[in-house]
Amino acid sequence: MPGQRIAVIDHDKCFPDKCGWLCQRKCPVNRVGKDCITQNVEKFKAVIAEELCTGCGICPKICPFGAITIINLDIPLEEPVHQYGENMFRLHRLPIPRNNAVVGMIGRNGTGKSTAFNILSGIIVPNLGKWNEKGNYTTVKERFKGKELHAVFDKIESKELVVSIKPQHIERSRAHSKGACASCSIPSTKRKQTPSYKRSSWKRSPIASCRSSRGENCRK
Ligand code: SF4
Ligand code: SF4
Repeated sequence: MPGQRIAVIDHDKCFPDKCGWLCQRKCPVNRVGKDCITQNVEKFKAVIAEELCTGCGICPKICPFGAITIINLDIPLEEPVHQYGENMFRLHRLPIPRNNAVVGMIGRNGTGKSTAFNILSGIIVPNLGKWNEKGNYTTVKERFKGKELHAVFDKIESKELVVSIKPQHIERSRAHSKGACASCSIPSTKRKQTPSYKRSSWKRSPIASCRSSRGENCRK
């Protein structure tokens, strides 16, 4: 629906003991007696009721730690595919993997690329926005009934879909792979001659891919 909004609070930046619940004191909706910004006593963090928030933009500006983001939406969004928690990141769509094709995802940090990959590789079972419930594939497939993603989730659930993921932090690739460099399928001469790499990266990138696939010490 138009006028929908999303409130995100970064708990790692929310320190109510230092600000004295500034956002709650200044929120115009709270000031007229409604519980728009409340206190999560257990976590000692601010919570925003998106259905009460008018999107005035005051709290993101006054929070001294930049913990709040309010996104006013002009167009309605699909129901979330996955949400990590109250006022936390949520993913609304998924790319569709295709046989014998490459699906690329580009985007700024925090746009959900890793979440999407984790869902499509079966690491995360989507909770469809019900962050306080555990996701299950029966409900997920019901949601995508009649769509291409239904067949994808069928394969994920039955583990028919085999996924290979490069570690995000290639410097930690030793933790992901074992084996001898000699078994690596990339000839060392070919690695060194790859022309499009800058000097600083042509040494590292092929080595990293080599490590992540098979080898442990490709510098030999
Ligand atoms: S969100 Fe910001 S202003 Fe609100 S309680 Fe947390 S630190 Fe304070
Ligand atoms: S953006 Fe929403 S939560 Fe923040 S001060 Fe305005 S009405 Fe309150």
